[in-house]
Amino acid sequence: MGEEKKSLIKKIQSTGLMRKIMADYFYFLDRASKDENSKVAWCTSVGPAELLLSFDFAVHYPENHGAVLGSTRKANDYIPVANAIGYSPDICSYLTSDVGAYIRKETPLARAYEGITGLPKPDVLVYNTNQCRDVQDWFMWYSRELNVPAIGITSYRDLGEIKKEHLDGIVYQIKDLIPRLEEISGKKFDIDKFSHIMDLSKQCTVLWKKVLKTNEAVPAPLSFFDATIHMGPAVVLRGSEVAIDYYKVLLKELEERAANKDGAVEGEKYRIYWEGMPIWGKLRSMAEFFIELKAAVIASTYCNSWIFDDFDPSDPFLSMARAYTQIFIVRDENYKEHYIKDMADLYKIDGILFHDAKTCPNNSNNRYGMPERLEKTLGIPTLTINGDLNDLRCYSEEQSKTNIEAFIEQLESK
Ligand code: SF4
Repeated sequence: MGEEKKSLIKKIQSTGLMRKIMADYFYFLDRASKDENSKVAWCTSVGPAELLLSFDFAVHYPENHGAVLGSTRKANDYIPVANAIGYSPDICSYLTSDVGAYIRKETPLARAYEGITGLPKPDVLVYNTNQCRDVQDWFMWYSRELNVPAIGITSYRDLGEIKKEHLDGIVYQIKDLIPRLEEISGKKFDIDKFSHIMDLSKQCTVLWKKVLKTNEAVPAPLSFFDATIHMGPAVVLRGSEVAIDYYKVLLKELEERAANKDGAVEGEKYRIYWEGMPIWGKLRSMAEFFIELKAAVIASTYCNSWIFDDFDPSDPFLSMARAYTQIFIVRDENYKEHYIKDMADLYKIDGILFHDAKTCPNNSNNRYGMPERLEKTLGIPTLTINGDLNDLRCYSEEQSKTNIEAFIEQLESK
């Protein structure tokens, strides 16, 4: 038997701590689901989580479960199950894999964590359509299936300038959720508690942003592929002390690595921006492939999506409306173009890789001429690869690797 090939991926020491707090989180949800005195809410990943936490809901994020299905490569077992009940293979593959897994009564969490047998049963489903319509349709399916209320916020989309009237509309909708949440949770709304949780969420956001910004250093200490894993606490544990404490530890480690010029890619030659969704089932093989090419994928729109700088505990409703409306995915093409250009400058990017995710047009920004425009304004090459977040039938590894190699040769010749 041949020796197992040693991984080229450098270990991040904080990973053990992250795995522990994520495990604690899943066990917490499981306990809450079995405790008749606790209430569980399901929330979209950029939904009004802080409001739910202020009512003491244990909050489950189905998109996180979608990513777990993708990264454990189980998604393709379940997508056809949802297709069979009429949910198209062309719609969000988080939705189809999650719904398919539910129908089959399976979850990778049950294999990973002893004693967990399924997802926590919700008492309420709360969405924000700021990212896409799919999240609403996803929650509506569960609402019908489990006979649980689905309530939420219908957001604006494709916004350039964000105006007062946009924010007023969102504030109104956030406030409008409160009577239903009081009724379901059996608790009175507490503005001080809401402000406190907004404060905790803001602290988490500030630290996560600092973590990502350590990659301004050359060489960059954190790869995009590792960042997609380490952003887990910012997604599911924002609004808690645990997430804040974790990012302090991770930040310290990455600052030290940056100071010691200990890059994620040994001998970093090229710095790449990743635009679009991760390909969850291929994180490891992609990370190793880029390391072999001495190319560091070090910045992305995706990992920045959980930075909510504008949270302001002294004005929680308006600042929540602003923070969840000004995220990249909600904005128009001009805003997005400027955003990526600024990121490319900040991180000294040599080339931009666009991932055209078949089932997520909302997060595939190559479709309206953006790569071509950025090539002109930035004077750097771009590459578009076809794939998907979860549905690996849409991704050809061989073809993508050939295209990426040619792209790196192009960078070399520059
Ligand atoms: S933004 Fe894309 S990946 Fe996320 S829920 Fe919507 S369709 Fe799915």
